[in-house]
Amino acid sequence: MSATSTNGLRTNGLRPLVAGNWKMNGSRRALRELGMMSEGYDAGLRAAVDLLVCPPATLMQAASVIALGSRVAVGAQDCHAEEAGAFTGDISAAMLADLGATAVIVGHSERRAGHRETNAQVRAKCEAAWRAGLMAVVCIGETERERDAGKTLGVIGRQLSGSVPDGAGAANTVIAYEPVWAIGTGRTPSNEQIVEVHGAIRKALARRFKAEGRGMRILYGGSVKPSNADEILKLPEVNGALVGGASLKAVDFLGIAAAYR
Ligand code: PEP
Repeated sequence: MSATSTNGLRTNGLRPLVAGNWKMNGSRRALRELGMMSEGYDAGLRAAVDLLVCPPATLMQAASVIALGSRVAVGAQDCHAEEAGAFTGDISAAMLADLGATAVIVGHSERRAGHRETNAQVRAKCEAAWRAGLMAVVCIGETERERDAGKTLGVIGRQLSGSVPDGAGAANTVIAYEPVWAIGTGRTPSNEQIVEVHGAIRKALARRFKAEGRGMRILYGGSVKPSNADEILKLPEVNGALVGGASLKAVDFLGIAAAYR
């Protein structure tokens, strides 16, 4: 099913999601921004788009209290694949759910690169998220070298089949396409490049998960800001955005979500 919202953005019949990844940023003071996001998530926006904010785990509990009642969802940036045990410094999906998280990002390129996370590990984290009742936001994306070598679709296909477990569905899984070279750089792919990759992801999801795969949201991530959100979010098979830097300030994050008003 395909649909176009009144402002001309294509929604493909799926409710859009704008998700913010605060990364390792923010002390308790930063929660003021979340308060402003909650206030700004008015009836008009609530009717049009889901909002999710993923602060550092240290702020999870306070964030979920602040967001309570506003319908801004709060999520985490990573989880361990096991539920509990001798894993010093790690946090399980069940613990995050206990603090009020309803979603968790898994397989972000900064974890794949900085912590050498493999597709198999990302898949196990995704399954752990589901067991805890969390929605998993599974990140995939090619490096600049892979794109320059013409390997983008192959890399994306392998990450998708390796990182997303059987049993993925529209309610428990969101895919985020984040070209590594576009994250935090101010560079974005061309519209054609985004459309090509999102189309390939949709085809692969539909082939593997049938109706569930056609219902899963596919987010674009990488240097999304208020000034380019309108253009990117109207592209076919783009069902929202995963936002890093511009999710730290309420005015920017709400400015991106406003593309769906
Ligand atoms: C991210 O880290 O997921 C991201 C998309 O970052 P930025 O928006 O800052 O490029």
